[in-house]
Amino acid sequence: MKKHNFNAGPSILPREVIEKTAQAILDYNGSGLSLMEISHRAKDFQPVVDEAVALFKKLLNIPEGYSVLFLGGGASMEFCMVPYNFLEKKAAYLNTGTWAKKALKEAKAFGEVVEVASSEKDGFTYIPKNYEVPADVDYFHITTNNTIYGTELHADPDVNVPLVGDMSSDIFSRPVDVSKYICIYGGAQKNLAPAGVTFVIVKDDALGKVSRYIPTMLNYKTHVEKGSMFNTPPVVPIYAALQTLRWIKAQGGVEEMQRRAKVRAEMLYAEIDRNKLFRGTVTNKGDRSLMNICFVMADEYKDLEAEFLKFATEKGMVGIKGHRSVGGFRASCYNAMPVESVQALIDCMQEFEKMH
Ligand SMILES: *Cc1c(COP(=O)(O)O)cnc(C)c1O
Repeated sequence: MKKHNFNAGPSILPREVIEKTAQAILDYNGSGLSLMEISHRAKDFQPVVDEAVALFKKLLNIPEGYSVLFLGGGASMEFCMVPYNFLEKKAAYLNTGTWAKKALKEAKAFGEVVEVASSEKDGFTYIPKNYEVPADVDYFHITTNNTIYGTELHADPDVNVPLVGDMSSDIFSRPVDVSKYICIYGGAQKNLAPAGVTFVIVKDDALGKVSRYIPTMLNYKTHVEKGSMFNTPPVVPIYAALQTLRWIKAQGGVEEMQRRAKVRAEMLYAEIDRNKLFRGTVTNKGDRSLMNICFVMADEYKDLEAEFLKFATEKGMVGIKGHRSVGGFRASCYNAMPVESVQALIDCMQEFEKMH
């Protein structure tokens, strides 16, 4: 049976990315060796990093003066690297979910942290608006897509301080005005590559401004100066990321990814709103994520949750159970998600409705 992969992360990748990576693992460029067996310093691996960096810059329209890094540690490591490198006195954070909160907690060890707004009291069901960011902060940290709660900032905030963005789960799904940011980071395993590599876009002249000692491995400068090769980078995930970047470019770039994301999300949210058995969890519809579409059984049909999960699973839906902290369902629809899979889930919801 065809599987429809709605996993939240690690998650769906384009089939050709998986095939090309599998091929390189068996025999890298006809060398008779596996990609897993060669040095990251081998002359035929350097072009992989170079092309991945170049495609990052091209696809996101990154201005001059920025570096793109491929590191280990996951987005969670960036929660500490960001304040280590950028927080001298004071930083502002927008508390929009579990990941945002973890980033904020880490920053508190490095200086004064202002939580400018939070939707935590309301279960993170919307993105706070009309907050004020103090003018004297070193940066304002946002989580552009809240993977667990299914909310998303659809535009880069208009503030007069440098932004830092966790874009783990919506990178390459919309155009970004990178010039507003001093740092953009994310784990690759939502929208780019298998787990193991973390992408970081960093503004070069924002580095070196804090007075503290930064441990070598946690210092962005180390990795900028060594082109992500200070130590052994995660070679296989970087190779896979390059295949995804090539795929995005061939499909028509970030604008096309955004168009597809809107089509998928409109279809699925329309069904959630129409179908009497279900309701969306995000209270402000304008804040609904195009990537992680969260819904629960309507109050009158609460008892049917386990039954729907079983029904949908039998029809090939994978990974639609909501995060344990929210419950219900979450259909993650990252860049590689075909519209046919979204239609298959909608068919499931309609069939289930007819049975009740
Ligand atoms: C998954 C996720 C993280 C954590 O990523 P790791 O690579 O596992 O550390 C952080 N932020 C967001 C928005 C995420 O979706």
